[in-house]
Amino acid sequence: MTQLLIERDIEQEILTVFNLQKANAQNLANTNARERKAKLKNILDWTLSHENEIGEALYKDFKKNPSETNIGEILGVVGEIKHLIKHLNSWMKPQSVPTPLNMIGTSAHVRFEPKGICLIISPWNYPFNLSIKPLAQAIAAGNTVILKPSELTPNTSALIKKMLSELFNSNEIHVIEGDSTVSQILLEQPFNHIFFTGSPNVGKIVMTAAAKNLTSVTLELGGKSPCIVDETANITKSAEKIAWGKFINNGQTCVAPDYVLVHKSVENEFVSAMKNSIENMYGNEVKQSADYCRIVNNRHFNRLNTLLIEAVEKGANISFGGQVDGSENYIAPTLLTGVDNSMKIMQEEIFGPILPIVSYSTNEEAVTHIKNREKPLAMYINSGKESNINYFIENSSAGGTVINDCVIHYGHTEIPFGGVNNSGIGKSGGIWGFTEFSNQRAVMRQKFGTFKMIYPPYTPSVAKLIRFFVRWM
Ligand code: NAD
Repeated sequence: MTQLLIERDIEQEILTVFNLQKANAQNLANTNARERKAKLKNILDWTLSHENEIGEALYKDFKKNPSETNIGEILGVVGEIKHLIKHLNSWMKPQSVPTPLNMIGTSAHVRFEPKGICLIISPWNYPFNLSIKPLAQAIAAGNTVILKPSELTPNTSALIKKMLSELFNSNEIHVIEGDSTVSQILLEQPFNHIFFTGSPNVGKIVMTAAAKNLTSVTLELGGKSPCIVDETANITKSAEKIAWGKFINNGQTCVAPDYVLVHKSVENEFVSAMKNSIENMYGNEVKQSADYCRIVNNRHFNRLNTLLIEAVEKGANISFGGQVDGSENYIAPTLLTGVDNSMKIMQEEIFGPILPIVSYSTNEEAVTHIKNREKPLAMYINSGKESNINYFIENSSAGGTVINDCVIHYGHTEIPFGGVNNSGIGKSGGIWGFTEFSNQRAVMRQKFGTFKMIYPPYTPSVAKLIRFFVRWM
């Protein structure tokens, strides 16, 4: 009964805010770059002046080290907002286009108008970054936003709510906290755009709900991102970067290497370099390291522990790590060798600090392994040989690829970020985020010409003229 009442209250709140935003959407659409930049600057200033509170919230949520919060949560937001502020004037300008021969006598341009009322649903793994970055892109494009952060990081979600209610009225930006029930009530509303970051399974639920209103979607999803280490790679450097990209945020990073495909001839060398790299970052007693955060909750701990146990039961070897402690949601950085496709760990996105290492003999075998799975969000290539790099890229598909490093492309403001099919639909970041939250409206003007010469009746001479156009225009 109480639950029902809460749901009814939330439904009422959602409807009220949705209508307020609907009434305000046109005002926002008419704002200029200076006004939008001032709002972005307020978010930037708030973020920088509340660095400690953001760090504390993330520490309470899953013991994230404040430096890791600075790298993974604040740096990305600050970089994105500065980039938006720098370029917004030029992005908002209508873009004139050349006139093709068959359109002679006309002119045209493309206007970027806001989509309108947007819904952003964000995940828990980088809860500040993955809420505020898309929000900034939506604001740059002139939209109103209802934001639902994740229920799994309640301290950060509450801080986001505090921040945005200090900076904005509800008719522009409003935060609604809650779980999937709240999400589903939100998804019933006829939003103009939904920006969802989360798992592919929930992405399908979001897209199904959006289809009912023909709402456009951006889906930033996940999956198994492979990391190739070929026989020509610099093994020490590759291992350093892979260990960092995998174990930062305890492996709970959408673009973390999910598993490694290593050339058979360098497998042993690679495993031993990985052990050194892990120890260099976290010491011999990883559990005591303040730099190694925890798995977000017990449900995810159990999910990961079950994957690990099943893999070992089916014959996988723990080459490093393997220690677990459910009372702390702790799993040590773990390297698994001898894995095969029958194990669940090679079927599901891992999203935790366990790294399966699969060896291959030929480039074709490595590519086949990747292509037998859904198209990944990221694919990494560690190699010193240009022809290998080209082969791996040209014979696969992925949302993004980094050569001789991993994860860092997320922070690049000049390249699109996003997946492909199962790992995502649409792109975000910089101009791509601005475009994603905009309707690209085509505006054409008839200046002095007319196309009357091809109107009916189709007399022989009109028909001849049309044939001429078909061939020569
Ligand atoms: P999730 O899909 O479980 O939850 C994401 C959001 O959806 C949360 O706000 C949650 O409340 C909501 N939600 C959950 N179930 C729902 C339902 N049935 N109906 C409607 N809404 C629902 O994802 P998560 O566990 O928070 O995050 C991990 C996943 O997100 C991983 O798959 C990871 O790869 C992916 N991810 C992707 C990116 C990216 O940028 N591509 C970034 C971070 C995480």
